[in-house]
Amino acid sequence: MNAVLEVRGVSKSFGGVVAAADLDVTVERGEIVGIIGANGAGKTTLMRAICGLLLAARGRVVLDGRDVTRLPAHRRARLGVGYMPEDRRLVPQLPVRDNILLPLWARGVADAEARLAEVLRFVPDIEPFLARPALRLSGGQQKLVALARALAAGERVLLLDEPFEGVAPALARRLAEILESLGHAGQRTILVSGSDYTHTAGLVDRLYAIERGRVEPAAPTGAG
Ligand code: ATP
Repeated sequence: MNAVLEVRGVSKSFGGVVAAADLDVTVERGEIVGIIGANGAGKTTLMRAICGLLLAARGRVVLDGRDVTRLPAHRRARLGVGYMPEDRRLVPQLPVRDNILLPLWARGVADAEARLAEVLRFVPDIEPFLARPALRLSGGQQKLVALARALAAGERVLLLDEPFEGVAPALARRLAEILESLGHAGQRTILVSGSDYTHTAGLVDRLYAIERGRVEPAAPTGAG
């Protein structure tokens, strides 16, 4: 087995609400894995537990064989974990270019410009507005920038939290196309969440369904 990401028995509650209950998720190298569940099912909790933005009460997160469960988020980011949060979280006043480079600068990545160039091969759509402040972009354009930023930082694994949510059909197709091209290039290992199977069905190698903090392997269409 060649798992890049292993989540084992991760649990987290908020007050009395169980957000993650003994979650087991594995993503192998080069795989695109979907995690599908309704609002409040626990998708964001899982993503945040993987990138270290929340510490699980129990369980382990293993990256390329290394137990990172106790590492803070910035240390995990240095290991090449890229996260695209559902709400984008761009810095509004900063140019697009700096939004993408910021996480790399923070990590002291020496070849940040080369990374940006590499990302633009996959997301050329954003090239025309690299110098524009993020706040001047449409919501859809911001989504692409958030994806590009995650790509630049996530050379080992990409965590995409509901990238298709609230997105116009044309942009959803474009996002899927970009993820497919990444998958074909064989250089990305991706965990992508969604609230239904619409956009992920044709895209992913494997799927999990998540409900009330519990995951189970699921069929690609959600049937069975
Ligand atoms: P959504 O699509 O709405 O983001 P989700 O599948 O990502 O849903 P989570 O955000 O992981 O779900 O939430 C799982 C459960 O944990 C929900 O019941 C949510 O209300 C609760 N929860 C998540 N974060 C917190 C928090 N910081 N404080 C309190 N409860 C929380």
